[in-house]
Amino acid sequence: MPRTLPQLIDGQWQTSQAQELIEVTDPTTQDVIALAPKATAEEIEAAVTSAQRAFLAWREVPVSERARLMLRYQHLLKEHHDELAEILAQETGKTFADAKGDVWRGIEVAEHAANIASLMMGETVENVAREIDTASWIQPLGVCVGITPFNFPAMIPLWMFPLAIACGNTFILKPSEQDPMTPNRLAELFIEAGAPAGVLQVLHGGREQVDALLVHPQVRAVSFVGSVTVGQHVYRTGTQHLKRVQAFAGAKNHMVIMPDAPKDQVISNLLGASCGAAGQRCMAISVAVFVGESKQWIDELAEQMAALRPGHWQDSGAAYGPLISPQARQRVLHLIEQGKAEGADCLLDGSQCSVEGYPNGNWIGPTLFRGVTTKMSLYREEIFGPVLVCMEVATLEEAIELVNASPYGNGTSLFTRSGGAARHFQHAVEVGQVGINVPIPVPLPFFSFTGWKGSFYGDLHAYGKQAVRFYTETKTVTSRWFDDTPLGDGPNMTISLK
Ligand code: NAD
Repeated sequence: MPRTLPQLIDGQWQTSQAQELIEVTDPTTQDVIALAPKATAEEIEAAVTSAQRAFLAWREVPVSERARLMLRYQHLLKEHHDELAEILAQETGKTFADAKGDVWRGIEVAEHAANIASLMMGETVENVAREIDTASWIQPLGVCVGITPFNFPAMIPLWMFPLAIACGNTFILKPSEQDPMTPNRLAELFIEAGAPAGVLQVLHGGREQVDALLVHPQVRAVSFVGSVTVGQHVYRTGTQHLKRVQAFAGAKNHMVIMPDAPKDQVISNLLGASCGAAGQRCMAISVAVFVGESKQWIDELAEQMAALRPGHWQDSGAAYGPLISPQARQRVLHLIEQGKAEGADCLLDGSQCSVEGYPNGNWIGPTLFRGVTTKMSLYREEIFGPVLVCMEVATLEEAIELVNASPYGNGTSLFTRSGGAARHFQHAVEVGQVGINVPIPVPLPFFSFTGWKGSFYGDLHAYGKQAVRFYTETKTVTSRWFDDTPLGDGPNMTISLK
């Protein structure tokens, strides 16, 4: 009998009273490996009440002590790196190396959160008026909520709660119901690092639990990462209830290939960026835009892509794992069929893929299309599978127009040897994260994760300085200290500082 995952409420791991349980499955076998409860209304209320109470104490804890918690946490995460990656690989199917990468990119954020004192520095100006000084102070908000997707069950929760908590907030995490075991383990380690009761809470569930948190009057801010429709819903509902919201949503990322680019680098980078993690990355390259004669490389790309094979996470020869669920697989298979029906040329078809020993896995082999137009569903929809579509244009200008016409703006990259082309591309392209000869330009945590357009709803982005702004308020204090000088010209009846 698979175990039912506990929830972390008020510093205790508690068994939920929920009647409804969600099955967490191994995507290589469909075996049920855990059950996630759908948190009850009482449990949600208890978590928010505890988080609010804990906030009153936590915000008074000196910043250096909050930083030390992050240092201890970072150390524990590193010690448990392999163990976390194993749990993550079991529930997502990611290869072990890729699972380690997922954990590692989260550890980097926890590490960055240990710098919280310098990140929370305000500003001061002396003598803003005669003998009057102004200083700004950065203060935490209160109870913050994080809603995370299935595709990075370590990295994305870690984008959120370490920085929010380092700022002095308390945090309620509602991880994806498809892979909640990794987030639970992350939270256990956070408690082990010394987090006081109530500073972090973990609730499980899906839509109903998210909706209850979005409208709760004591929740001050909501961080969301997930699909477009849900992102729009979270942004609309959260802001309608007067909360601060940042919502990171879907994507369709283009890699533009100039004919002067090094061919072998282009092909190798395209393979990893399109099929890595079975294409289930919000920064995956799903469209390759070949400029001019670079289109001659498409056949060689198809040949090398055909050699990639998915497999079980313990198989060190596997290039990537299965899709997260049979539903996700069906969706991708449907898009592949639709692509063929709409007239795209399928150079490599992974829809019949099987993996020996795992007949029930959600496998899809590497799939490559050319002759794709902007009207086809293959181009318009986020596929989220190991499927790459190739498009051909005559000039860099045409490629930029194509990218800019996309409703999404998460990531893009240009492969070239020309500094001039690169400079022009990075300036003109309307996408928030640009790679020059770097296929998946996810910034490290001292920068922020800056998706644009339909890939992001909100103002302030994840991690880095922007996240510190998102999780805090600025208070400006203007002060004057009187000496014994007699009162001058009587009361100041104007708004000017005198
Ligand atoms: P999802 O939107 O289905 O789920 C995300 C979260 O929202 C989960 O915690 C889920 O329980 C909750 N949820 C689902 N339906 C809901 C509803 N109707 N109302 C309220 N909450 C709901 O996303 P997913 O399938 O887990 O993740 C994949 C998506 O996430 C892709 O579209 C991908 O591009 C996107 N993503 C974006 C980024 C980014 O930074 N822009 C990063 C990672 C993933």
